[in-house]
Amino acid sequence: MQRILERGEIESLDHITIPRLRLPPSDGVFKARAARLRKLAANEIAGTPVSTELSGYLLLMADVVEAQDAVFASLTDADAALPDQNMLEMARQHAMPPLPLAGARPLAWHAIFARLLTSLAPSAKSRPQLVPVLAALQALDTASLDTFADAVLNQRIEEVDPAHAPFIAAALQILWTHRASKLMLQDVPTLETAALCPVCGSHPVASVVRIGGQSQGYRYLHCELCASEWHMVRVKCSHCEKNANIAYQGLRSRDTEMDAEIDAKKVSAPLKANKANDAQKVIRAETCDDCHTYRKIVNQEHDYEVEPLADDLASLMLDVLVTEAGYNRASMNPLLWFSGPA
Ligand SMILES: [Zn+2]
Ligand SMILES: [Zn+2]
Repeated sequence: MQRILERGEIESLDHITIPRLRLPPSDGVFKARAARLRKLAANEIAGTPVSTELSGYLLLMADVVEAQDAVFASLTDADAALPDQNMLEMARQHAMPPLPLAGARPLAWHAIFARLLTSLAPSAKSRPQLVPVLAALQALDTASLDTFADAVLNQRIEEVDPAHAPFIAAALQILWTHRASKLMLQDVPTLETAALCPVCGSHPVASVVRIGGQSQGYRYLHCELCASEWHMVRVKCSHCEKNANIAYQGLRSRDTEMDAEIDAKKVSAPLKANKANDAQKVIRAETCDDCHTYRKIVNQEHDYEVEPLADDLASLMLDVLVTEAGYNRASMNPLLWFSGPA
């Protein structure tokens, strides 16, 4: 016998169909990011023009990300063990991130940092400016390294040399991404706030509208540290979670048109209103007039290969535009630090 579902039941079924969390794959995060950085550096992405100076920096960071990929591929389970079942269960019960950025780090992180620097040695041969940076990083004792790692994880930018911070952040990303890729979805609770990564508690670096499979048309926030992605409805501030005063700023145009979340009820015809492959909509800033911050949003409907962290890093012109309009960046890009100790 057929039973008619009540409205509330239908909504709760719809909710289940949206994957709430996309854990990072066990390989490919850094490979895809490095490839995207090289394309952006070569000015191959219409809609994200890149200056010569920025291009040089993106190529350096592409080397760093390739080194991350090499170290990531060499890690074993023993390098970065997950918390035991009791700890995971406790995190779940208290709706806490299972791999919190605060507190003790697995000791393997020192070795990961050293391996990252070693992997960058070939790159330094063609980049003389990298030689003193790597030498200074190699000379750090473990106590200083841990102090700087705490500053990087908490975005305390005045406590760390901005030239050193991206390399420390890169090593931490390897460790957290590796561990996040080993988690099971059920290990990760839903946090009270949707503005922080449910896996590690870090900020999102940017958000991304995904296409394909069950994630079709949905917006995810991309973790700056562990590369996990969690669902947040579109047209909502990823910083203060209000939705009344959101607008989208591209390099060429600002639009307030409601780029509406495709809710699960309309999933059979979700994308008719959107024209795909619009270069001006590959990356935009989502601005909020409630908290006066912005965070960028990249859209796979307009460029399949978008990579949130790389596209955010390469679109500094958009940062300038939006900052001049009076908005502050909601959080930093771990591969670019603007200011350090005076
Ligand atoms: Zn995370
Ligand atoms: Zn806001």
